[in-house]
Amino acid sequence: MDQTYPFQLIPLPYDYCALEPYIDAETMQLHHNRHLKTYVDNLNATLEQAPDYQNWTLRQLVQHSGSLPPALRTPVQRNAGGVFNHEFFFAGMSHEGGPPAGHLAGAIQTSYGNFADFYHQFKTQALAVFGSGYAWLAADGNGQLHIMTTANQETPLHLNPLICIDVWEHAYYLKHFNLRDDYIDAWFRVADFGVASRRYEGR
Ligand code: MN
Repeated sequence: MDQTYPFQLIPLPYDYCALEPYIDAETMQLHHNRHLKTYVDNLNATLEQAPDYQNWTLRQLVQHSGSLPPALRTPVQRNAGGVFNHEFFFAGMSHEGGPPAGHLAGAIQTSYGNFADFYHQFKTQALAVFGSGYAWLAADGNGQLHIMTTANQETPLHLNPLICIDVWEHAYYLKHFNLRDDYIDAWFRVADFGVASRRYEGR
């Protein structure tokens, strides 16, 4: 998130097949090497003609796209958001997943009662995204948890995002066809709430 122009396609922190059988290798390869790469390439193409913003970090571009010159706003929001959201999504999965730990485990208990009830609420919101977007677990400045959704490549950086699921069809169509419900269950098997817990504690 701290990289600047020219942006690179950062390798995944695991092999394309690492999330099998829950997320298949072909989906991971296309998702990373084509979908994310396209956002990286388009972001670079946008900033190539905008030298004033080539020293902005990815996070700054996402957070402050609204203050850019009008011609840059939409392409930067879409493409910087696309890079940020995908890197964040990929980093929030791992082979063994991992349950919430530490302060996040307590906050989930406080807000949702238990992990099963959190799971149900998160899944319901992820299912309700109309068209393309993401569902997120995020924390506000008081540490209060929020389940929320965003459209397209918007990013909830007014909060501290902890983990997200990409529910664009390209994230699941090869394996699950149109069954987003099955994909969300599969994602929960590899969702790394250990990573989310560290993000919650600012680590
Ligand atoms: Mn995607």
